[in-house]
Amino acid sequence: MEPGDNRLHQQLQSARERLQDLYRRAEASPAQRELLEEALAELSISLEELQVSVEEMRQYNDELAAAQEETAVEHRRYRELFDFAPAGYLVTDPWGNIQDANRQAKEILGVFQEYLAHKPMITFIAERDHKRFRDLLAKLLTDDLSGEWETEILRRRNGGAPFPATLSVFRVCDPQGRLIRLLWLVRNITERKKAEDVVQQSLRRVIALRDINDAIMSTLDLQQVLDFLLEKIEQFFPYPIASTVRLFNRDKRLEYLACRNIKDEDWKNYHPGSPGARGQEVVRTKAPLVVRNIQTDSRIIRRPDFYRRNNLVSYLAVPLMTKGEVLGLLCVYTKAEHEFSDQEIAFLSGVGSQAALAIYNSRLYEQLKEQSLELRKAHDELEQRVEERTADLTKVNDDLRFEIAERQRVEDELRRSEERSRNLAKQLEGQLIISDRLVTLGELAASFAHEFNNPLAIILGLSQEMRLGLERSDPHYESITAIEQEALRCRKIVLDLFDFVRPKEATFTPVDVGEILHKTISLLSVQYKKSNIKTVVDLEPDLPPIFADPQQLRQVLINLSFNAAEAMADGGTLAFRAAANRVAAKDHSGNDEAQVELTIAICDTGPGIGPELLPDIFRPFFSTKKGKGMGLGLSICERIMKTHRGRISVESRPGEGTTFYLHFPVPEVKE
Ligand code: ADP
Repeated sequence: MEPGDNRLHQQLQSARERLQDLYRRAEASPAQRELLEEALAELSISLEELQVSVEEMRQYNDELAAAQEETAVEHRRYRELFDFAPAGYLVTDPWGNIQDANRQAKEILGVFQEYLAHKPMITFIAERDHKRFRDLLAKLLTDDLSGEWETEILRRRNGGAPFPATLSVFRVCDPQGRLIRLLWLVRNITERKKAEDVVQQSLRRVIALRDINDAIMSTLDLQQVLDFLLEKIEQFFPYPIASTVRLFNRDKRLEYLACRNIKDEDWKNYHPGSPGARGQEVVRTKAPLVVRNIQTDSRIIRRPDFYRRNNLVSYLAVPLMTKGEVLGLLCVYTKAEHEFSDQEIAFLSGVGSQAALAIYNSRLYEQLKEQSLELRKAHDELEQRVEERTADLTKVNDDLRFEIAERQRVEDELRRSEERSRNLAKQLEGQLIISDRLVTLGELAASFAHEFNNPLAIILGLSQEMRLGLERSDPHYESITAIEQEALRCRKIVLDLFDFVRPKEATFTPVDVGEILHKTISLLSVQYKKSNIKTVVDLEPDLPPIFADPQQLRQVLINLSFNAAEAMADGGTLAFRAAANRVAAKDHSGNDEAQVELTIAICDTGPGIGPELLPDIFRPFFSTKKGKGMGLGLSICERIMKTHRGRISVESRPGEGTTFYLHFPVPEVKE
């Protein structure tokens, strides 16, 4: 029982005792007894009620004590949690004055707890962020702000270095919504920052490698690739560096290809064609080599002043290697002493591999270019030789062609002259035969004509007389007519002979071609009828007269008509056409002039003349009529046409009939 409870109990006990006493005294004074008893009874009830209240109070007290105990336990637990939480917690008033802090917070801030009490939180925050922090506090008075606030925390104790941290803040308000406290969560993010830096660096490395790769892929120009490479390497290192690339050439000597942030001349003067001790080591081990301070490195035997003069201190070299072969050296120098990290070494090795590939490709390309140039040169030479040879050949060819053409021309000429001589010989032979025959024929014909002419005249006269005396219906009419025709034919032969042997003198007069044609047709009408031949006359209107011997012209027409009638033994059509045309001709002096020519065409529908015979038909005594003809008709026609300064021509094809053309010059009518 609690001391307070005891006291209350004792008071109750004494109240009860005093009540007993009052009872006793009331019994002693009967006058007031009733009133007193009443008061006492009420008092007694009140006492009882008080007793109950005391009891309730005691119970309530017990509960309170239990609750207090529980709260204390919770508080302890909260404190433990608060103190041992992995993050730093700070409790400040709304103006940022520290009220409480957990252990971690003290740890983070590097101070003792006493130091923290009532300290403004801003004293721990980097000066550059003070304004931002004040603004934050001002905003927090009214607004709930979420998220993290990054700053740098200044360590106080032992002059500790500042470190990056994030602050998260929570507002605590009273029931009226007024801000009474701020709870801060402080996290040291040094490790996170470091991790981020590592990621950033890796990213930069990857980007640099990718850029280098892109550049390598985009050009085959070695110098361009190397310059770009050194530029990218410089960008990658966050402190000043110098860099160089040297390559072994075909003679295994080191060539100075590119350098950055070192005087070109100085660098080239310094390095001989063979690698120094460090370079040799890289080539031998095919691995990166790091020298902390190159100026004091014991391996340097050649001009260490070069490094001092150019302020080159730490050294990292990687072999430029492809397909197991070291093509050259890539070196990076720092301007201040530096310990190259594994990442930096790995980066430069990666760059070295890529650069080696670029160098390899570029060299391959150069080789290809050289080969291609050589090929082109060879090709050009070959082409030139082919051109020269072609020109020679063309010339020889032209000469040959000319020679062939010349030979052809000579051959043609020869062939033609041979042909001419053959024709001439033939003609001469024909003429010889003719003249030979003609001599005999002339004599023969004279007596022949003389002997036959008279009996023929008698036969013809008598037969004509007899035919005229006979009716057509007379049975002898046909026979007499036949005798008359045959006699006529014989007379023609005789006359032909006469004409051929002793041609008559021509007497030229203007002749109307139409008239002479009609007369000739009418003369031969009986013959046509007998042979069932239809005649057609087709004359151009207004034909000019020709200058001719009518007798001789008629003889030509009769000869041609006879031949046509004989060719159309089974009937056909014999057409006579005449037309005048303007043709090109030569005047007496051999100059070109236009002349009017009248052409008579005698066209039959007979069997035609084969091409093999055509050249011979105008030859005297050429006949296909096997004894029935003398073969003189056409040669007489040709001679007569020549006498008329005209000419005779023929067109004939087997099965398509024959057309003879008589061309007469039409004399110009002088006004
Ligand atoms: P002939 O009539 O006595 O044979 P020509 O000198 O008149 O002599 O004719 C020579 C040859 O020309 C004839 O034998 C004949 O073969 C051929 N000839 C002439 N005219 C014609 C014609 N219209 N159709 C076919 N052949 C013809």
